[in-house]
Amino acid sequence: MPKRYATVVGGGIGGLAAAVALQRRGWRVEVLERAERFTEIGAGISLWPNALAALDALGLAGAVRDLGAVETAGGVRDLRGRWLSRTDNAELARRFGHPLVVLHRADLLRVLAEALPADSLRPGSEVLAVRDDGHGPVVEHRGGESRPDLVVGADGLHSAVRGALWPEAAGPRYAGYPAWRMVTEPLDEPPAEGAATWGNGERFGYTVLPGRRMYCFATASLPPASALGSPAAEYAELLRRFGDWPDPVPALLAAVPADAVLRHDLYDLPPLRTFVRGRVALLGDAAHAMTPNLGQGACQALEDAVTLAHCLDETGDPAAALRSYDALRRPRTQAVVRRSARLGAVGQLAWPPAVLLRDTAARLTPVRATLRSMTPVLSWTPPGAPATETENESP
Ligand code: FAD
Repeated sequence: MPKRYATVVGGGIGGLAAAVALQRRGWRVEVLERAERFTEIGAGISLWPNALAALDALGLAGAVRDLGAVETAGGVRDLRGRWLSRTDNAELARRFGHPLVVLHRADLLRVLAEALPADSLRPGSEVLAVRDDGHGPVVEHRGGESRPDLVVGADGLHSAVRGALWPEAAGPRYAGYPAWRMVTEPLDEPPAEGAATWGNGERFGYTVLPGRRMYCFATASLPPASALGSPAAEYAELLRRFGDWPDPVPALLAAVPADAVLRHDLYDLPPLRTFVRGRVALLGDAAHAMTPNLGQGACQALEDAVTLAHCLDETGDPAAALRSYDALRRPRTQAVVRRSARLGAVGQLAWPPAVLLRDTAARLTPVRATLRSMTPVLSWTPPGAPATETENESP
């Protein structure tokens, strides 16, 4: 019997993971990527236990852990440097079987790309149109035309696949704040653990990376499209806003190369009524882009990838398989989108009485309660695998 053939549109974390998951289950895959190379911009990424569980299903958790730093503890501080809440990350590994791992995005992408046959990777292949000609999906791209058994739309927030086949879907929604991201040079004495500081309408966070570096991120409530035009100007803006924040923020900023500051407006996607149409499935940000407040966008994309391949393996009927994928993934991911947006709104509070109330509530919340509230998100296991904790609760 000829191998089933899948075209994956987009070679980001979600697309590559989907390609690996399908290929491991006997599919022939091609990954059409617009960019000339399969790589990611230079910043870090947090992978929570649910993402490690998905990578484990792909046989890649060990390789990713080896390239990352295991985050031992973290939490949120106020503007005076006092802890508002703490997280016990050692407890994560005990409860959910995997730790929280932070690594460079480019390293994660490389592990995924290297798990695929080189001839399945098609850089410089921007997808221009996707349609159904009555016999199945047709994908037009810069390198020609593909007529696969399955199309996976993993082409991100501004997905061309979604635009073509979900014309009624609302566009992305601006969160009300951009994010700055940067990686420090190696530090003589890097902080032993990560943390985020919450101010009035501004936040600054950092996590440990391998090689004595730190991955830092910051937000501020601002209109969309108000970027300053150059990394150096953004760096100056970061110094102005956060240069006098509690330690170690000033030292971290001093260790950031001024030309390496990234700034992106943050968006999420209003809920789609379905992630699947015919033999086309949306996955990752194309299906459920979320704000990064929970650090779950890529984690959910990895879960999508493993689940999609599992559903297709369960039945020879692709339409039924995609319906199962939609039923398993849509409610869960859309709940994470909502939760992430809520956390962002709380984190961005600026009115002093509201900030005081927020900080007091955070200080009074026990560590165990924070962990319990995250359990439905973090306890995910691949379909068919033994459950960890209460994984079927809604996130
Ligand atoms: P993308 O990464 O957007 O990849 C889409 C790919 O498709 C790209 O390579 C693009 O070039 C390609 N493409 C687009 N259009 C076409 C086309 N027409 N034809 C061919 N190719 C095309 N998530 C976490 O889990 N942990 C974190 O710590 C975390 N931090 C974040 C911090 C910030 C500031 C932001 C903005 C996001 C963060 N996320 C995090 C979310 C995470 O980055 C995304 O959810 C994840 O990268 C989505 O992957 P994806 O493959 O679905 O989409």
